[in-house]
Amino acid sequence: MVISKIVMEKIISLPNDIYEKMIAEGENNLPDEACGLLAGYHHQVRSFWPLQNQLKSSTRFFVPKEMVTTAVKSIQNRKEQVLAIFHTHPSTKPVPSQFDLIHHPNEEVDMVIISYKYQIPQIKWYQIKNKTYKACTININ
Ligand SMILES: [Zn+2]
Repeated sequence: MVISKIVMEKIISLPNDIYEKMIAEGENNLPDEACGLLAGYHHQVRSFWPLQNQLKSSTRFFVPKEMVTTAVKSIQNRKEQVLAIFHTHPSTKPVPSQFDLIHHPNEEVDMVIISYKYQIPQIKWYQIKNKTYKACTININ
């Protein structure tokens, strides 16, 4: 039982320079939400693709399909895969809202939230299944 639990747990490897770029992107967009894509192989993040939040909102984000498609093509050109959709919560906890869960486009892709509610930003990585979420462990290295 213990072994199967360890095998099933998803551990994400996130390079420190990408983590810092995500934190900075979120900070630069405050008080609005920032968003973007994270790409790489398996559970290893290799690149970060910030996308302009067209809504300029502190509680919602939206990026037109063409902008997402352009980023996805660049990711595929690097032989990487989209691992997660990233967005920030400027003033609430790093927990997916009902809105986030309902609008998550693809359960093969994870959800990453950075919260600026507290003095130190908090990052969480979630797997989404049937409109519910499960936190993964993030190794920043
Ligand atoms: Zn959200």
